[in-house]
Amino acid sequence: MVWWVKFQLPIGSSVDPTCIFCKIIEGTTPSTIVHQDEHAIAFLDIHPAAPVHILIIPRQHIESINDLENKHQFLIGHLFIVARDLARQKGVSETGYRLILNSGPDARQAVFHLHLHLLGGQPMRFPMG
Ligand code: AMP
Ligand code: ZN
Repeated sequence: MVWWVKFQLPIGSSVDPTCIFCKIIEGTTPSTIVHQDEHAIAFLDIHPAAPVHILIIPRQHIESINDLENKHQFLIGHLFIVARDLARQKGVSETGYRLILNSGPDARQAVFHLHLHLLGGQPMRFPMG
């Protein structure tokens, strides 16, 4: 987030108007949403890297793992519960799937709104890294 946007946001605001994922949450950018609840939404990745490629994100704008606070413990656990349910729904629970959460430049994080990638439907490449 650029400093002047952060400055303009109300204290405690959980939305960054410049963030593409916040725009998806608000419905001002199109996406294929596959799950919504009070705390999180999930939608198809626009450039799928596997037959199943879903992004699971908190509604709250948190830029990365580095910005997590202790109060976010439930929220982070919730993203994994949503991932488990979506893996079942998409039929990859038993064949297997990979959950990826990129943080920072070396991990090639491109969108600075915390997101969990759910990848499945094909054997994943190895090794990672
Ligand atoms: P990361 O490198 O972990 O930050 O991944 C960001 C992901 O967001 C990439 O896999 C992109 O393909 C995906 N992405 C970016 N913009 C959109 C969008 N508008 N709708 C769906 N997925 C997107
Ligand atoms: Zn955001």
